[in-house]
Amino acid sequence: MSNSTTTIQSLKSSSRKVEAICRQLVAQYGLPRHGNPQEPLFALTYLLLSKRNTTAIAEPTYKQFRLTHPRWKQLLNAKSRAIKAINKPLGLHRIRTCQIRSTLHATRAKFDVCSLDDLREMSPDEAQAFFESLPGVSTKLAKCVQMYTLNAKVLSVDVYVFRVSIKLGLIKKSRLVLSHESIERAVPPNLRYTYYVTCVALDRDICRSGPQCNRCYIRRYCQCGSRG
Ligand code: SF4
Repeated sequence: MSNSTTTIQSLKSSSRKVEAICRQLVAQYGLPRHGNPQEPLFALTYLLLSKRNTTAIAEPTYKQFRLTHPRWKQLLNAKSRAIKAINKPLGLHRIRTCQIRSTLHATRAKFDVCSLDDLREMSPDEAQAFFESLPGVSTKLAKCVQMYTLNAKVLSVDVYVFRVSIKLGLIKKSRLVLSHESIERAVPPNLRYTYYVTCVALDRDICRSGPQCNRCYIRRYCQCGSRG
């Protein structure tokens, strides 16, 4: 059997597995947005604040931002000191302040307004390139904004998705170097958003540390769980 035939067969079998996993997880968790706003610029700001932080810390800080600076213009004109003070609970507050301000400047320079709504008219690749040109925006963060707000059929492989996907055997350990692309390829485009939000929910609920496999809804698909 040729290599390409084997690859197509393994993609088909992982698609079926992902479909079954998503069905189980949606029945349990629904499709939670995990606090992510609907508008792209709001979501991007929220995710920049959330980096290396728990939702419990990032969410109140984001709300404080919106409360004190309800319009983007106010945030652009605000003194750095005031923004850093709001950012402080998150750590790295100087860097975050700089990233948020640079994002707002770059957005206004490109679209003439502080809004990323025009990205809806662009292809996912064009939108991805714009996001990745911004300071502090990694590939996975950019894909996250695209999934949550632009309905793009991409998969952000962050630590949650990575951890669960390895346990589910979506990629072989020997291919870890290629893991991000491999995991995205293994998940059918129409299920990427579902897979992402439900993996995050599962990881936070029972799988992160000291997994509670006896409570797990997808244990039968999990390489770790089936051994447990
Ligand atoms: S069976 Fe256990 S290790 Fe596997 S996904 Fe479920 S909780 Fe995590």
